[in-house]
Amino acid sequence: MILAYKYKLKANLSQERTMTNWLSMLRSHYNFCLRDRIEAYEQVRSPKLGNYSDLKTKAPSCPLSCSISNKSQLGEPFKKSGEKRNAYEMQSSELPSLKKTRPWYKKIHSAVLQQNLRRLDTALKNFFDGRRYPKFKTRQRFKSFSYPPGQIKLKENKIYLPSLGWMKFFKSRNIPDGFKLKTVTIRSLADGWYVSIRIENPDVPQSVNKDLKQVKTVVGCDLGIKKLLALSNGELRENPQFEKRLSKRKTLIQRRASRKRINSSNQKKAYAKLARIDQKIVNQREDYQWKIAHRLASLADVIVLEDLNIQGMIRKCRAKQDENGKFLKNGQSAKKALNRLIRDCSWGNLKLKIQSVAAKFECICLDVNPKFTSQKCSHCGHIAKENRNKERFLCLNCGFLEDADIQASVNIGIIGLETLGISPSKLLRVTEEVTPKPELTGSLNREKSVSLEVEPGNPTHPLTPSWEGARGWVSG
Ligand SMILES: [Zn+2]
Repeated sequence: MILAYKYKLKANLSQERTMTNWLSMLRSHYNFCLRDRIEAYEQVRSPKLGNYSDLKTKAPSCPLSCSISNKSQLGEPFKKSGEKRNAYEMQSSELPSLKKTRPWYKKIHSAVLQQNLRRLDTALKNFFDGRRYPKFKTRQRFKSFSYPPGQIKLKENKIYLPSLGWMKFFKSRNIPDGFKLKTVTIRSLADGWYVSIRIENPDVPQSVNKDLKQVKTVVGCDLGIKKLLALSNGELRENPQFEKRLSKRKTLIQRRASRKRINSSNQKKAYAKLARIDQKIVNQREDYQWKIAHRLASLADVIVLEDLNIQGMIRKCRAKQDENGKFLKNGQSAKKALNRLIRDCSWGNLKLKIQSVAAKFECICLDVNPKFTSQKCSHCGHIAKENRNKERFLCLNCGFLEDADIQASVNIGIIGLETLGISPSKLLRVTEEVTPKPELTGSLNREKSVSLEVEPGNPTHPLTPSWEGARGWVSG
């Protein structure tokens, strides 16, 4: 099992300066090597005429008979043994001559430089796997560098980073026993430097192969905007709208920053303040999401989520034109506000966190198609659009009354049970008494266990949520 632990670093002034310096050098090197890779790729797609030479002998040759390397134009294409190098190896073989021509690159630890090339290689591999074309990195998009496994040392609250020296960090939690240190990434955020340590325990499997006979409880989850999460056991989680909460303050600081003189140090200070607000929003949201994920993992053996097309939901409205080609109103300005709310929910990140916590505690996490889940009655199966009236669900066939989101989550849970082939009696339902799992079955030595107490409330009445807001939660 691979996990990542993040700590805030206490770097001294000279270390901070060195790391900032490294980032700027690494970014230039990344962009330089990316241009090289792009040129090599484009050269194969649509060859340009020029001076060609044979790769092995380097003798001039005819462009018609010459084979072109689609990997890189830098570095040696062949190993000493005569084997062909891949693109990463080619660019890596160029590093000694880079240090010769640009001696300031000698200050960067060689493993960090190689890791930077690996990062570029991964970006291109992702592109060849069908993801987007790699982009040149701006200052805002290049904030981290990493050390490969086996380079760093840890001692209490100190970390040894080669070429940077020992550095203290805020040890907010202990690394569990039996885990090996893997790649270490240093990242610059608005409020300082952070280190993220990947740890691995090969004895614990990453994927869950849970026996379906062991499944005792299943919970269905419905994602929404006003109520971020509705669970099939009747629990509701409000959406705190972290972005909206701080939006007024953010606008104010944004306005102040924009009125400062360009490139003045006051302007830099003002924009740093703005960046810290953005960082705060992210921190608040992440904390809330981790708590939700731990709560779900403590609640049931199987978590059923809905498979949402988030990119499709926040897509822009299609432009409307009349016969003269004049643009008409298409409702985009109204949709803009909704899109902002959807982004503030950050469902994608929430789902990722739920999946990762579920894997940690050996729960099964499922994605199901949410079609008709908000219109279907979970009691009699009657599907009608009229069943739902805003937040209330009233079945026109059997008269079943329920909160619309909880009703949808019950349906999602039922679909999940059908996918797994388990009898529906195991679903955590509103009407049934909620009995959380007695103990987490995770194999990790956690310092604090997640509180499993169900908050006091009235679980029999579905429309009064038993606990609201983040305050009622006990963190894990
Ligand atoms: Zn019904």
